[in-house]
Amino acid sequence: MAEVRGQWSDVARASGLLAADGSLAPTVFARMTALATATGAINLGQGFPDTDGPAEVLEAARAAIASGANQYPPGRGVPELRAAVAEHQRRWYGLSVDPDTEVLVTAGATEAIAATVLALCSPGDEVVVLEPYYDSYAATIALGGAVRRPVTLRWPDFALDAAALAAAFSDRTRLLLLNNPHNPTGRVLTPDELAVVARVARERDVVVVTDEVYEHLTFDGRVHVPLATLPGMAERTVTISSAGKTLSVTGWKIGWLHARADLVDAITTVKQFLTYVNGGPFQPAVAAGLALPSSVFRQAAVDLQERRDLLVAGLSSAGLDVVVPEGTYFVVADAAPLGVTDATSFCLQLPALAGVVAVPMAAFYDDATPARSLVRFACCKRPEVIAEASRRLSTLKARL
Ligand code: PMP
Ligand code: GLN
Repeated sequence: MAEVRGQWSDVARASGLLAADGSLAPTVFARMTALATATGAINLGQGFPDTDGPAEVLEAARAAIASGANQYPPGRGVPELRAAVAEHQRRWYGLSVDPDTEVLVTAGATEAIAATVLALCSPGDEVVVLEPYYDSYAATIALGGAVRRPVTLRWPDFALDAAALAAAFSDRTRLLLLNNPHNPTGRVLTPDELAVVARVARERDVVVVTDEVYEHLTFDGRVHVPLATLPGMAERTVTISSAGKTLSVTGWKIGWLHARADLVDAITTVKQFLTYVNGGPFQPAVAAGLALPSSVFRQAAVDLQERRDLLVAGLSSAGLDVVVPEGTYFVVADAAPLGVTDATSFCLQLPALAGVVAVPMAAFYDDATPARSLVRFACCKRPEVIAEASRRLSTLKARL
């Protein structure tokens, strides 16, 4: 039988993305959701909401299908969605974006990130990333033959260390791949931290790719500030977002990016050979969603904040140390007070111990030493689900 092997298998093995025997290692999210399905445990692992988003958006997709929007959309996305992205950036952040030359619609933020890294990096180039990092960053950088240079955000405040950021740069640095609000830590970078990022990017003359999929999910009155709004940054920033989180339609996989026209041209060149296009009838529906009144976006954040509070209270009374997240779907907790020293094996036992699934933070690090006992829980679930998960977790102390 022919050997299953390609250039990806070498880079993936070298980057720890394959199991030791070279076999496929499914993502931590796929593994944990499979564990929840197999055990019937409550899934606080993979970050997806268990309720639908705005009814108008769902109806707009049905109407688009009924009206025949079922063939390939244009390569850069349907004009109404590109216009809606540009208008969204103007309305929320005062950014001026040309929908015809500076916007690209993608198959989720995941494809936007992949196409950008593949378009802008050559083999051997270095990409600076905040660690813990979203799992696809490491895979995408490896598949492009580039090298990741992590800058670690440390428990419990997960602050960005300006000196560590500067030290991660070298003559080979091509990109800085940022995620704000940040999965998995729940951090929202402060204006000072953003200013540090912008200063380093300008000084080192690199492009910053900023993944802002949680832009509308910030808590306690925090306001999301896109990096592209900082002085001198619009021309060197690729801003990425997605309908998945903002409109609670993670399965639609409609994302987008905006950047300088020549950067968008280069990224489109790669994107057209990844998926070409996707989600024809979902694109106009997302355009309708982005045009919804601001109050709809704000209410979604308020509702999520209430669920965050429920989960934080539940985890605390179960005996874990919890950092209150500033945004995103996620709450990070330290299970060390329960005697846990290895969160990965703890998470594998958690369905049997308490009927709950969560994700070990170690999955998001090159060197997971600082995260040995840290666990990520998703709060984007119905209040009654979080209440039941909390009740179950409250039995942990007695069982461990
Ligand atoms: N970036 C981050 C930080 C995420 O948490 C996720 C998961 N939603 C993605 C990108 C992927 O987004 P999408 O589903 O739109 O591809
Ligand atoms: N973004 C989601 C999370 O962080 C998962 C998406 C996925 O499964 N790839 O949990």
